Amino acid sequence: MKSSSPSWIKLFILQCLAVVCVAQDFDFFYFVQQWPGSYCDTKQSCCYPTTGKPAADFGIHGLWPNYKDGSYPSNCDPDSPFDQSKISDLSSSMQRNWPSLACPSSNGFTFWGHEWDKHGTCSESVLDQHDYFSSALGLKTQLNLLQALKTAGIQPNGQFYSLSSIKGAIKAGTGYTPYIECNVDVSGNSQLYQIYMCVDNSGTNLIECPVFPHGRCGSSIEFPSF
Ligand code: 5GP
Ligand code: 5GP
Repeated sequence: MKSSSPSWIKLFILQCLAVVCVAQDFDFFYFVQQWPGSYCDTKQSCCYPTTGKPAADFGIHGLWPNYKDGSYPSNCDPDSPFDQSKISDLSSSMQRNWPSLACPSSNGFTFWGHEWDKHGTCSESVLDQHDYFSSALGLKTQLNLLQALKTAGIQPNGQFYSLSSIKGAIKAGTGYTPYIECNVDVSGNSQLYQIYMCVDNSGTNLIECPVFPHGRCGSSIEFPSF
C-alpha cells in the first residue's frame, strides 16, 4: 500500500490554508464615536436630523476595518450597495444612536449608506449588512462612554479636562485604552471630538488597539455641551 504524504507536506498544506489561501481581508476594527457638541461647535455648520435634535450622548460615526500597519481598505464591493430595507428593524435605534449631523438635515440613511459602502463592504466576510449595523449598536451600548466619563467627573459642560484624565476614565470604565481625536472650536480651543476603541475582527470583542491613528490633542481639552 502507498504510504501517506510526509508530515512536512501536511504542515505546508495546513499553513497554506491558514495563511495564504484564506488571507484575512483586515486585522481589526476601529469603532469610532463622535461628540455632537464638538461636531457642531466649530466653524463648520451642523444640521440636526429630520427626526429632531439627538440626545446629548456620543453618536456612532463608524465601524472601520483596519490593518495592523495603520492602513485600511475602503470601498471594497461595489456589487453590495447599501440597502435600507435590510436594516428596517434597526432604524429607530439607528436614529437614536447613529444620528447624522451633516448639512443639509437628513434622516441618516445617506450617512449610514456612506459608512456601509466605504467601510462595511470591507468586512463582509464576517458581517453582512444587517450584522454590521447591529454589531455597532451593540458595541455602543457595551461601551457606554458618556457614563464612563461622568463617573470620573468629566461632564459635557464646556470645562477643560486633561487628555490623561479622559483616557484614564475610559480605561477605567471599559477596560481598554481609547484614541482621542480633537478638533478646534471657534475660539481656537482643542476639544473632544471623536473616541476610537478597537474591536477584534469578529466585530464583537473589544481589544487593545494594535496601532493608534496619528494626530494630537492639546493637553487641556474642552468638553462642550450639546
Ligand atoms: P479624516 O481625514 O477626517 O481623519 O478621516 C476621513 C475619513 O477617512 C474617516 O471618516 C474615515 O472614513 C477614514 N479614515 C480616517 N482614518 C482612518 C483610519 O485610521 N482607519 C480607517 N479604517 N478609516 C479611516
Ligand atoms: P467618513 O468618510 O469620514 O467615514 O464619513 C464622513 C462622511 O459622512 C462625510 O461625507 C460627511 O459629510 C458625512 N456625514 C454625514 N453625517 C455625518 C456626521 O454626523 N458626522 C460625520 N463625521 N460625518 C457625517
